[in-house]
Amino acid sequence: MVCPKCGSRDVRISPSGKYVCNSCGYSWQMPMADLGWARRIFNIEKLYEEFKDVRPIDCARMKGEMVKRGASEGDAAKIVRRIARRAVRMTNDKNEREALTAIIDGC
Ligand SMILES: [Zn+2]
Repeated sequence: MVCPKCGSRDVRISPSGKYVCNSCGYSWQMPMADLGWARRIFNIEKLYEEFKDVRPIDCARMKGEMVKRGASEGDAAKIVRRIARRAVRMTNDKNEREALTAIIDGC
């Protein structure tokens, strides 16, 4: 991203969804495409935080809940796999690890 006023590449995103130039302070509206992307990333992180401690990890049920909250099928599967990978790191139980690995492979 380049500032349209001074040409600086030192540009940040404000919480209200605008680009702000760190060099000259100029701010301008994000294009809709970028705004959609920013919202999607924000929603993925929000769902991950919300579901990361939900047990048992059930791929179909959790995906269904996430899709209801605006995630795409593919993004929801990615979030469940991420939650399952985290759970693998947190357990020393061999059976539980195997069950989680099956979820990661199948979800
Ligand atoms: Zn600028």
